Amino acid sequence: MTFGVEQAEKWIITFNDKIQENKEYLTELDQAIGDGDHGLNMARGFQETVNKITSVNYDDLGSLFKDVGMTLIAKVGGASGPLYGTAFMKASLALKDKKKADVKELVEALAASLDGLKTRGKAQVGDKTMIDVWEPVIEFLTNSETIQPKELSVLSKEKMEYTKELEAKKGRAAYLGKRSIGHIDPGAASSYLLFVSLAEVFTG
Ligand code: ADP
Ligand code: MG
Ligand code: MG
Repeated sequence: MTFGVEQAEKWIITFNDKIQENKEYLTELDQAIGDGDHGLNMARGFQETVNKITSVNYDDLGSLFKDVGMTLIAKVGGASGPLYGTAFMKASLALKDKKKADVKELVEALAASLDGLKTRGKAQVGDKTMIDVWEPVIEFLTNSETIQPKELSVLSKEKMEYTKELEAKKGRAAYLGKRSIGHIDPGAASSYLLFVSLAEVFTG
């Protein structure tokens, strides 16, 4: 398995395609328990990101992910921009000057992203946020020798769906208290798409 600049670009481009396809769906999820802009925020931010990264030839993963992070932070308002932006900035530091990453290096970079998300947003598993997808996924990948695309997709879907049962403790949805129960968290849904896109890179 190779994870180099080409694979990283494919990941981001695939994710952007899924975000554009699911823009209305993500908006509907956020209309139920937030302010209804998650689809728009993500669609705008990742389209800008793809425009940026396809206009530059990158030598290494660190500089590619740095541009992803910086574009998201600059272009997306709301919680999700700084959060996804931080995730990619942390990955870029972990992969500084690396042309390629093996599974261990890639997973360590994603673990650094998760740390960054938790430090920035102060959310824990169970708070009904994107962390409810990220943390179990990173734990699963950390304990895997190889990236198993099918298992990765199934697990992230399951964790995304489980947020429906939870009461929100962080983000706008927390204002609803118990009324947030019964709805999938929008950021968990976009994070599911992020990991499905990563799985697709490893499917070939
Ligand atoms: P906003 O809530 O500012 O309108 P978005 O709608 O784009 O921003 O993103 C909302 C998503 O961001 C939520 O569904 C949740 O997954 C995630 N989120 C919000 N606050 C936090 C936090 N403190 N930690 C982790 N994720 C969070
Ligand atoms: Mg919102
Ligand atoms: Mg908003």
